[in-house]
Amino acid sequence: MASAGSIEQTFVRLEDGIQRLTLPLPTGPKHVHCYLVDGTLFDTGLGLGEAPWSSAAVERIAITHFHPDHVGGAAAAAAATGAPVFQGGLDYAQCERVWGSKDWPERMAAWFTRHGVPAAVVDDLIEQGHAFAAFIRYALDPELLYEGSELDGWNVVELPGHADGHLGFLRDGVLISGDHLLQRISPAVGLYPESRPDPLGDYLASLARTIELMPRVVYPGHGEPIGNAAERARELIAHHRERLNVTAAALSGEPRTAYDVSLAVFGAELSPTQRRFAVAETLSHLERLVREGRGARAGDGGTVTYTGP
Ligand SMILES: [Zn+2]
Repeated sequence: MASAGSIEQTFVRLEDGIQRLTLPLPTGPKHVHCYLVDGTLFDTGLGLGEAPWSSAAVERIAITHFHPDHVGGAAAAAAATGAPVFQGGLDYAQCERVWGSKDWPERMAAWFTRHGVPAAVVDDLIEQGHAFAAFIRYALDPELLYEGSELDGWNVVELPGHADGHLGFLRDGVLISGDHLLQRISPAVGLYPESRPDPLGDYLASLARTIELMPRVVYPGHGEPIGNAAERARELIAHHRERLNVTAAALSGEPRTAYDVSLAVFGAELSPTQRRFAVAETLSHLERLVREGRGARAGDGGTVTYTGP
């Protein structure tokens, strides 16, 4: 990654005593935010290119979730600052399982195959998965956080859905939300292997929890601060209710794989990467429908299929 741009990257002072550092991403929303508040650095970017860690007064590093654009720079940030890293207990277990293992892409590929994904799309995953994993330098053996933990006055809140072990940090009405709540993007909620079985159910509950917590302002991993968190949470609940109806409409008495359903719900024109996200997102909705009695799953061991009621 070009370092010419990264020299310009500096912390920008926002309200609430918060400093924000915006790092570039090669894909997706094209940027990710890290926040520095009273010595606590929240999230660390992808870890490609340089970041001004050594110039910042970082006393501790907190990770919202194990996705590459949040945890990938953790080892570099810890090395540059000498600060300890704090990460969710469940999140770190998943981080190790995914980025710390040699055969995660193969395990993921076998799982997608069972859900009807064609070989070309699966093979691309194996190739990309191995190319990518080497760059994700998470910090080994962080101090683990759980629901109810406290970190320099921040209350740790578990907000599963976008990631099983996703944490939020709440203090004085300020919520550092990672990717749990975003203003313009509907955070991806996908089902993946070796993870919690009903991520959309988790996410809807975490959105309801966000409404109860009533944060005054939310600082997200991507996009601008969110002042109307409850309203945004309600929008996202309504969005997923609608997506559940669209997914349910794609089911019939005829067994269909999650891949087949994803073609009906997301269309046929997707890149292999987009298709995998679409299948994972379709699966989180299918599994929620199963739990709501609006669908049934069959095929433990072999190809997994879903039918309507
Ligand atoms: Zn994420």
